[in-house]
Amino acid sequence: MTTQATPTSHAVNTSQVSDSAPDLLNLARHLSAEEQHRLQRIEDYVQENIRHQSIEPWNQEELPLDMLHGLGELGLGEVFVDGSSQLFQGLAHIALAQADVSISAVVGIHNELIVGTIESLGSAEQKDHWLPDLRRLRTLGAFCLTEPEHGSDIAGGLSTSATLEDDQWHIRGSKRWIGLGTVADVAVVWARDTADGQIKGFLVPTDTPGYQARKITNKTGLRIMQNAELELDLTAPESALMPKATSFAATSEGLRGSRAWVGWQAVGAQQALLEVARHHALTRTQFGKPLASFQLVQTALATIAGNLAVSTAFMGELARLQEESQLTMLRATLAKATLTRLARESAAIARDALGGNGILSTHEVAKIAGDIDAIYTYEGSYGINMLIAGRELTGVSAFV
Ligand SMILES: Cc1cc2nc3c(=O)[nH]c(=O)nc-3n(C[C@H](O)[C@H](O)[C@H](O)COP(=O)(O)OP(=O)(O)OC[C@H]3O[C@@H](n4cnc5c(N)ncnc54)[C@H](O)[C@@H]3O)c2cc1C
Repeated sequence: MTTQATPTSHAVNTSQVSDSAPDLLNLARHLSAEEQHRLQRIEDYVQENIRHQSIEPWNQEELPLDMLHGLGELGLGEVFVDGSSQLFQGLAHIALAQADVSISAVVGIHNELIVGTIESLGSAEQKDHWLPDLRRLRTLGAFCLTEPEHGSDIAGGLSTSATLEDDQWHIRGSKRWIGLGTVADVAVVWARDTADGQIKGFLVPTDTPGYQARKITNKTGLRIMQNAELELDLTAPESALMPKATSFAATSEGLRGSRAWVGWQAVGAQQALLEVARHHALTRTQFGKPLASFQLVQTALATIAGNLAVSTAFMGELARLQEESQLTMLRATLAKATLTRLARESAAIARDALGGNGILSTHEVAKIAGDIDAIYTYEGSYGINMLIAGRELTGVSAFV
């Protein structure tokens, strides 16, 4: 005897279901009341002003500068240096990444690698000159490290040169993948001093003759973030050198913090995936039932939620360690690599859960998935971060 499944009514009683996905670990409960209030304002603002408004600029590969100005007014250009707790900084980055990963990349790099680098390595004059407008997101910076011929091996291979002659630095070379390279006001340029062979950091206004930037188009992720190829053949005053940026170790310090920051991005992106996939499952009907009533769809949502919970817990504890100045390279690389790996898995599941709409940027998941693929690679590829972690674990380098 054969049985046939008969369609039955399984309407979801949406009055009993919250509109948004749950905040699984509620890390915000550890913040002071003042930071909780500030975070809520940021979350409300980015959901109202960035989440949906970022889709068209993402499609067009355009950076809407007015969005950055609004974030500047919320203080998001200076969270790295304004005394905010590590947890607050992380939760603010989650809120941004949940709304749009590209904008969160722009703001995160701005804090970690532009404001943070100038604050920790720059001279008093450089800080006075650049930081006030940078902190308000009225001025933007570009972090210029990677080169066309040197990505993963940049520490040993960096070939952009800096030569001091007659109290002037002559900087020559090419850079690639430089975020905001075409729109920034100041470039943080890493070049090798021909006198001692050390990699040093310079602050160069982008209107300096000999600074040339060309936008990289056709990216499949982080399309709002403007990446550029640079050709540098310029002269800068002796004072362009940041006094504490006189070896590659200076960059490594900043890159360790920024690797951890990518972990927060992975959390925010997965929160967005869960939100969108859950909403779709509750509102789309197939076989006479909401998708949310099928076991496979529930498993998909629970898998994303599990990845999200693990990622959130890792970053919550990492924030405590950062407060105690215990952000080791092992912890930072594991956060970056592991959480972007989990985010990629979550993105693939969410894309499937949306069916055909899962490949439309207008339905958010495809946009988030493309962005996750990009964050999997920047700030050091997945493989290189795992190899650094492996070196930390064994004392043996498997990549140089
Ligand atoms: C969207 C985006 C934004 C970026 N923004 C910036 C920026 O603002 N400023 C900046 O300076 N840079 C930026 N980058 C550059 C980024 O840091 C590099 O892309 C990254 O370090 C990888 O370098 P690569 O692209 O040259 O890849 P490659 O170094 O060519 O690596 C290619 C592949 O080979 C693997 N590989 C390399 N060496 C080894 C090895 N020894 N053993 C095993 N596997 C290996 C890598 O893991 C990777 O999978 C950005 C990149 C992207 C994609």
